[in-house]
Amino acid sequence: MAKQEDVFKTIVAHAKEYGFVFQSSEIYDGLSAVYDYGQNGVELKNNIKRYWWEAMTMLNDNIVGIDSAIFMHPTIWKASGHVDAFNDPLIDNKDSKKRYRADVLIEDEIAKFDEKINKEVAKAAKRFGESFDEAMFRQTNPRVLEHARKRDELHERFSNAMNANDLAELKQIILDYEIVDPISGTRNWTDVRQFNLMFKTEMGSTADGAMEVYLRPETAQGIFVNYLNVQKTGRMRIPFGIAQIGKAFRNEIVARQFIFRMREFEQMEMQFFVRPGEELKWFEHWRQTRLRWHKALGLGDEKYRYHDHEKLAHYANAATDIEFMMPFGFKEVEGIHSRTNFDLSQHEKFSGKNIKYFDPELNESYVPYVIETSIGVDRMFLSVLCSCYEAQDLGNGDSRVVLHFPAPIAPVKCAVLPLVKKDGLPEKAREIQHKLRFDFTCQYDEKDSIGKRYRRQDAIGTPFCITVDHQTLEDNTVTLRERDSMEQRRVSVDELETILGSQVSLNSLLKKLL
Ligand code: ATP
Repeated sequence: MAKQEDVFKTIVAHAKEYGFVFQSSEIYDGLSAVYDYGQNGVELKNNIKRYWWEAMTMLNDNIVGIDSAIFMHPTIWKASGHVDAFNDPLIDNKDSKKRYRADVLIEDEIAKFDEKINKEVAKAAKRFGESFDEAMFRQTNPRVLEHARKRDELHERFSNAMNANDLAELKQIILDYEIVDPISGTRNWTDVRQFNLMFKTEMGSTADGAMEVYLRPETAQGIFVNYLNVQKTGRMRIPFGIAQIGKAFRNEIVARQFIFRMREFEQMEMQFFVRPGEELKWFEHWRQTRLRWHKALGLGDEKYRYHDHEKLAHYANAATDIEFMMPFGFKEVEGIHSRTNFDLSQHEKFSGKNIKYFDPELNESYVPYVIETSIGVDRMFLSVLCSCYEAQDLGNGDSRVVLHFPAPIAPVKCAVLPLVKKDGLPEKAREIQHKLRFDFTCQYDEKDSIGKRYRRQDAIGTPFCITVDHQTLEDNTVTLRERDSMEQRRVSVDELETILGSQVSLNSLLKKLL
């Protein structure tokens, strides 16, 4: 574990050093859980967004996009349930003055039982060697069974408390299991309180009677309240979807793990409107479609898994997370939810407007059911960054850090490098760069040795380097170096656009989805 933590720290440091992600307001000692994207980060982020947007809106005839405002009428958040129920249970430690999510403290305690079980299994595996039957051991070993029993007991008590919204019981669990503050090491806890995650601000001047408004905690509601506008003006027929990319804000109690949990982040959400009764069929469709989208990037199929929800939000009748293997374990990157007709019905009720869809085939009106796919851009960015990072030992004391980004989403697609800074090579290199830059993000670099320049491009994940040397002036050929294999081959300048185009275009990725 410690090793994985070190790897993660190294990746975070790399992200800063190479212009991917900076702490917000760093010169003022930072603003907690808020981050800025640097020159390379913004390119990667934009490419991820483009991959999602085009997969949604260009590959589906019946999905269109919108861009709704961050501010919305405050009653929207009353209708959606966020004002009353978008809460996390928090608890403070009186000695460290640190604030924690009570549910997370207990979940960590539950995870400790699994760690104990895994330790027993690892010990036994070592002892028995080849003949070890892990499944049998897990089912029969008394110590494993005892840990599992205790885990299930705690889990059940915890779920009951969460479902009943019983804050006193959550505190009692923390006391009974002697959970200590990891910083102060004490059990000097306050009571558990509910904490609403929405940021509030005021709109209009106080003299006019300012209105309290919220920064949206999800982009979805902007889609719901516009669904009929889009349906009517776009002459959409059910089933159809509306996609949106935009900022969301949550006053997270404990912001951890770099850009995994931020207070200002970006979501890519698609709401798919279907006939009542057909929602589970479409839920299954989107569950599979979304995993295919992730896997097409080629980061490794084994890094994904579904986590089907047993406990459903009150409005949902099916929900799954797509989890990705981060350096700190499998974590949610995307949620796929069958939200029934809850949101639209609530908006109908609170706005007093009829927002039913008229289905010409059935000749009847109804409130559509909705399947939502909701993915965090920043979490997606983090999963790409972590899985592509490699500190590679090249032998003979040589090493490099390389980001194996899938070429279509790499921030920089190619770099043009004159071998030396004289003899007309820079001019020729510039000429090539100017030709390529219409189609590809393309850098020019003439500083330092060619080896150092290759390393710099590897460290930001540039898939191709194009080296211009004296031979280029004679026969118009260059050396094309490929990032992952480091192979070099001689190609004609005239071929560059075709070669690069076939490897780095987003189309090559999108075509895998059909
Ligand atoms: P979590 O359980 O991790 O808090 P959630 O279930 O509340 O997440 P959703 O409300 O389903 O998340 O939001 C959809 C997606 O938005 C998540 O899968 C995640 O990728 C992203 N997301 C949610 N909260 C944050 C955050 N604080 N920072 C970054 N991304 C987030």
